[in-house]
Amino acid sequence: MKIPDMELHQSHARSYGGGSFELVPGYDDPGCPRLYQAKYELERVVWDDSWQRQYGAAVHKAIDIFEGGSITPEAALEKIWPVVLGPERFIEAVRDLTRMVERLAVETHTVATEQFLRMKLYTDEDYGDVYLGGSIDRIAIDLINAWILYFDDWKTDRKPPSYENLNRWIQGFWYASLLRANADSFMADDLVGQVGIKGRYEAVKWYGLERVFTNDDLDYFEAWAESLARTILRDKTAEPIINPGCGWCPIRMDCPAWVGLPADGATLLERMTDTKLEFLAPRLKEMTDVRLQLEKLEKDVKGMISGRVLAPDSGDEFKAGGTRWFLNPAEKRVADVKAVAKIMGDDFWFLASVTLGAIDNWVEDHPEERAEMEKAVGKVRAKPRLKSEPVSGE
Ligand code: SF4
Repeated sequence: MKIPDMELHQSHARSYGGGSFELVPGYDDPGCPRLYQAKYELERVVWDDSWQRQYGAAVHKAIDIFEGGSITPEAALEKIWPVVLGPERFIEAVRDLTRMVERLAVETHTVATEQFLRMKLYTDEDYGDVYLGGSIDRIAIDLINAWILYFDDWKTDRKPPSYENLNRWIQGFWYASLLRANADSFMADDLVGQVGIKGRYEAVKWYGLERVFTNDDLDYFEAWAESLARTILRDKTAEPIINPGCGWCPIRMDCPAWVGLPADGATLLERMTDTKLEFLAPRLKEMTDVRLQLEKLEKDVKGMISGRVLAPDSGDEFKAGGTRWFLNPAEKRVADVKAVAKIMGDDFWFLASVTLGAIDNWVEDHPEERAEMEKAVGKVRAKPRLKSEPVSGE
């Protein structure tokens, strides 16, 4: 599969999955090659437009504005706030960003926000140069230790982060590597060789956690990223991998792995509703089999319930799951057909129901009438019926 513009981004890694070896202990985000293919090769994924995504984008834009100017977080939010997010979330964002500004006030000096950086990752022997790219939320320098480059990764998560999160902070490794490779753009030449990289996982609503990235960390990360790029470029099958994100996957209704999962009737039906006809049609027989089995099961269950209601000491009832079953006294209407025919006269023949099966049975008992009956029972053109047969070679 291709890597767009031969430039690997963190979103690619997140979609595809973790590559062929573990970056940090416990990092086991499986991703899904089929989803990656739909997004970046076939380009047929409609991007998620949830309020969480819009909220995150709005907060990022606002930080970018107030970091670049001399206005307050509230004024910055007012400039860009999407109406659909409503006033309550606006108040929440103002409160969160004001607190964040207080936290970050004196420690570092901002040198860039929303800064896109790029670096060469490796030269692939079959596909040529592969790059790493990414847009860093904020780059800063330490006011006391001028050789330290800071970056912030702003998060609008709704639960507080832990140091565990920092271990799996792939975006942090990504930014740190990009910063190391581009350090000369942000600090004096004589300091470039001894640069230290510190990243801050800034959970806007909560607090920031910092992590130092050593050269060993970043060398290891770049080897991981190369391995991931090599795996993606050579993947010809884009096999689906069922993972915890499948429930939100935008192409799940079109994914054989997802649609084929065992499920209860309701979720199976939900999955089938939006699925393409080309996928559904070959499963028609399966659906009929499932329906027949369900009908049989329903009949069996009703039989078992009747058995429990009629059982000695049952009190003529059976209770389960907040429902009571009992035998309701009932009457059945029966008609004396001869008497009805006599009363209705010739009108009777308009309501009599005669089945072809019953006629055939009668002819079996009266063979002398077969010839006459064949004249009475003919064939007329009817609505075509749907049939199926195997197609050779498919
Ligand atoms: S539903 Fe799951 S397995 Fe299927 S494409 Fe989406 S992420 Fe992959």
